[in-house]
Amino acid sequence: MQLLKNLFQVSGDLNGLTWAGKDAGFEDGNSYILETGQGLVMFDCGCGETFDQICQNMAYWNLDIDQVHACFLTHAHLDHAGAAHNLRERTVKLIAHPETAEAMSKGDERCCGYLYHKSFIPTTIDQTIKDNETIEILGYQIKALHLPGHTRGCTAYVFEHQDKTILISGDIIGTLLAGDFGWSGSIDFDRKLYIESLRRLAKIDTDIMLPGHGMAYFHKPRRRVEAVLNQALMQWRG
Ligand SMILES: [Zn+2]
Repeated sequence: MQLLKNLFQVSGDLNGLTWAGKDAGFEDGNSYILETGQGLVMFDCGCGETFDQICQNMAYWNLDIDQVHACFLTHAHLDHAGAAHNLRERTVKLIAHPETAEAMSKGDERCCGYLYHKSFIPTTIDQTIKDNETIEILGYQIKALHLPGHTRGCTAYVFEHQDKTILISGDIIGTLLAGDFGWSGSIDFDRKLYIESLRRLAKIDTDIMLPGHGMAYFHKPRRRVEAVLNQALMQWRG
C-alpha cells in the first residue's frame, strides 16, 4: 500500500499485505519501498517465503524489484531479514549494523529461525552502517540509529521525504495499536540496553514512524516511544 507519495509498504501479515501460511500474526514483518526517482531503496524484506508476494505487491504500484538498489535491514530476525538471500541473488546491496551483519552471516539462533520452525539462510551483508552514520543513496541521506535491546543489532533509519522526517523503527517499539515492546525472547535480548535505547529514541521527534509490524504512525510517534519507555521503566527494573 502507498503511505506517502513515493513511499510504500509492501509486506506485513498483520496488514494482510503478505501471507506466510498461518493466520495473520508475526510471521512476516513490514517492509517498505522508497521510490527516489533514480531507483528504489528497500527497508527490511520479510521472511523469505513471501518474496514472490512482495514482488507482486510492488508490481501493483509499478515498482520493479530489479530497480531496488539497496536494502537496509533493521535486525536479523527471520520475519524481517529472511528474504535477504533472495535480494542478494539479485545483486541488491544489503546494508546493516555490524551486529546484525554478524548474526545474519551465521544464521544462528539470533535470527530466530527456530521460532518459526524454519531455517535462516546465512547471508553476507555488503556494507555495514554504524550508529549515527549516514549513507547517501540515490539522492537521499539515510541515517542509522543503533538502538539495541530487542536484539543487539537493532537499528532504526531516519530520512527526510516529502517534507517529513520518516523513522523506520523495526521492532524497537511496539507494533500494534498501543505502544508496546518488541518481543523480549530473543537470545540476544538485553533489558538494560533496551531501556537506554528507548530513553534515546524518546528524545527524537519524527513525523511518521514505520514499524516492523502493524500500522504506521502518522501522528506524533514520539508519544508512542515515551509510552513504551514508561512501561519499560515500570516493568523492567528491580
Ligand atoms: Zn524482531
